[in-house]
Parts: sequence; structure tokens; C-alpha cells
Amino acid sequence: MIIKLHRSKCIGCGSCAAVCPDFFEIADDGLSHIKGSQKDSEGNDVLEIKEENKGCAAEAAEVCPVQIISIN
Ligand code: SF4
Repeated sequence: MIIKLHRSKCIGCGSCAAVCPDFFEIADDGLSHIKGSQKDSEGNDVLEIKEENKGCAAEAAEVCPVQIISIN
């Protein structure tokens, strides 16, 4: 599965990093970053994970106030 973060729409609230520090951190620019991720052509963070390792990622998607974290 793929965790994707639309960084350009992040408001830097920190909620994702608070509930799921395994995958999310606030970067030096004040916006969320998926740890170990790569950039897609639109500048979004993308990280491929195994479903059994998704851990807290869904919680992060749920708490994001602007709903820019997807897990598919
Ligand atoms: S919860 Fe959403 S808006 Fe807040 S820092 Fe994370 S990605 Fe950005």
C-alpha cells in the first residue's frame, strides 16, 4: 500500500506527527513529512509499505484537519 501526503496543502498543525511519529514528522519548513518517503512528480511525499506494517498511519489520516493524507 501507499501512504501519500499532499505537502503543499499542509497547514503544519502537527497532529499527524503527534498520533503517528513512526511515519510523520514536522520538517524544517514547518510542514509534515513522511519519514523515508520519496517525492512524486507533484512534490507529494509517497511511501510504499506492506499492509501489515501500516500501524498508526490510518489514525494520522483521520486526524488531519485538511484531509491530505491518503492510504491506498
Ligand atoms: S495533520 Fe495534516 S495539516 Fe496537520 S501537519 Fe499533518 S499533514 Fe499537515
